Amino acid sequence: MEADRLTARKKAILLTGGAIKVPADFHPPFPLSRSTAGPGAGSSSMVFCFGGTRVKKTISREEGDFELVRDGERYSIMHKGETLVDDVAFQPTMHHAPQQAFFNLSTECIYSCKFCTSPRLDKRITKSLDADRIVEMAQAAYRRGGLKAVALTSAVVSTPQETVDRMVDVVRRVRAALPDVAIGVEPYVDRLEQIDALRDAGADEIKLNIETYDRDIFSKVCGELDLDWILEAISHAVRVFGRGKVTSNIIFGMGESDENVLEGVEALAKRGCIAVLRPLRLNDMNRHPMEEALGPLPPSGPDRLLRLAEEHKRILQENGLDTREVKSMCPECGCCDIVPFRDI
Ligand code: SF4
Ligand code: SF4
Repeated sequence: MEADRLTARKKAILLTGGAIKVPADFHPPFPLSRSTAGPGAGSSSMVFCFGGTRVKKTISREEGDFELVRDGERYSIMHKGETLVDDVAFQPTMHHAPQQAFFNLSTECIYSCKFCTSPRLDKRITKSLDADRIVEMAQAAYRRGGLKAVALTSAVVSTPQETVDRMVDVVRRVRAALPDVAIGVEPYVDRLEQIDALRDAGADEIKLNIETYDRDIFSKVCGELDLDWILEAISHAVRVFGRGKVTSNIIFGMGESDENVLEGVEALAKRGCIAVLRPLRLNDMNRHPMEEALGPLPPSGPDRLLRLAEEHKRILQENGLDTREVKSMCPECGCCDIVPFRDI
């Protein structure tokens, strides 16, 4: 999916704004995505496609920073009284993401990272998925056609080992059922052997999130975790999965500098890991804990997203890494970030 510069700017504007208001009589052409992880956790969202890119946005019938407007068979997205996107299409999510079956094994977590909404979700909307159900759903998605990857994430319910054991079991069973589909995993690990176990079970790619490269911010928002350990785990994961098969979230908009974000991108790239640069999203669930920890948090604007994405691309190029070779999870989905090489 190649998008031009203007498309990337429109996407950056959408990513840094709030919900899209849809007409009262709008009937989404497919079931809405109600995610339990990722930036849209807890809200109803849809995937909007234009100019070779796509973006997943919360939709609302009441209010929004953007407005979906219908003209005959065509839809446009308006922003501040002007047309931002003049011919938008909709894409279904398979499970959480377009062309992917992305499952969250559990939302209850022993840790309490301040930005994370997973543990705060209303238990009525979290899905308790066992291995049988996940394999069934992945196979059904495959039969419908167009499934590119199965991805698994999870909060840490009791111990990292218990969560990884569960993930290993699911990976093994999905791999047996769907030998040709890419499998991505996003665990929290506390032993290097857990990374080997996920690879041995059949995972192709792994995401181990550092969340921020600013140590002061890390200690305030992920105080129970250890940044050096995650970096060590990433280095090991690259040895096991290969260069460019390991990704890691860096959230920005928590008060860090651009230089720090890019130092993080570079530290990961030198290890063979591709950063996923993700603008912070604040909502009713995480705003208070985040502002309590870090003070007022002005949102990042579209210029910052584009500037960081350009530098991100340069650093990846210098290190021989390319997001287009990632087959699962966020770089493949591309709905929540400006993805170097794919968008810019
Ligand atoms: S470890 Fe993961 S799921 Fe648990 S609180 Fe932190 S970000 Fe959320
Ligand atoms: S970019 Fe990642 S978090 Fe966002 S919808 Fe896609 S898979 Fe989910």
